This record gives sequence, C-alpha cells and structure tokens, in this order.
Amino acid sequence: MVEEPVCKRCGNCCHYVKDGRVKSCSQLVKIGKKTACRIYRNRLGYKVDEGVHCANRKDVPFDFPGCPYNTGKPMMEVKNGIDSPGNSG
Ligand code: SF4
Ligand code: SF4
Repeated sequence: MVEEPVCKRCGNCCHYVKDGRVKSCSQLVKIGKKTACRIYRNRLGYKVDEGVHCANRKDVPFDFPGCPYNTGKPMMEVKNGIDSPGNSG
C-alpha cells in the first residue's frame, strides 16, 4: 500500500505575494499551531485577491519548506505569513 503524503496544515501554500509583500488568504485561520481553511469544500476557484485564485496544491507553482507535496518547483519561503503580527491578512 502506498501511503498518501499528509498535509501538515502549515498554511504556507495559502499565501501569495502582492505589491512585494507576502499576504495570507483571508479564509485561512489558525487553530493552535496549525491552520485551516474556512471554506475548504468550496475553496477551488475562490478569488483570494485580484488575479489570485485558490487552486489545488499540485497546481500551485511553488514548493514550500517541509511540504510533503513538493515536486522540485521554486521554493517560496513564507516568513511574514499568518504567524506575523503585522500581517493583516
Ligand atoms: S504547504 Fe504543504 S504542508 Fe503546508 S498547508 Fe500547504 S500542502 Fe499542507
Ligand atoms: S481559500 Fe484556498 S488559499 Fe484560501 S485558505 Fe482556503 S485553501 Fe487556502
């Protein structure tokens, strides 16, 4: 049996860069040390921001540190993400 990779729910792939700044999707919430999506079942195609839509992880053109779904795409570090107090989301 092949085990499916398990999402760590770090939320990094729910971030994007706008005007040179990393922003988190407004549907992303923190639950303890993990994150969740408020609209998970209806997330695909959701308009995150102008020109940014929610997509399946495999269609996101970046890798993220420690993500089990990485496939050798450019690495995106989310240093100012949902954990940052200065980030209004
Ligand atoms: S970056 Fe990877 S581990 Fe983190 S939430 Fe996205 S899919 Fe899950
Ligand atoms: S809508 Fe998409 S990008 Fe936004 S929190 Fe949910 S899964 Fe992440």
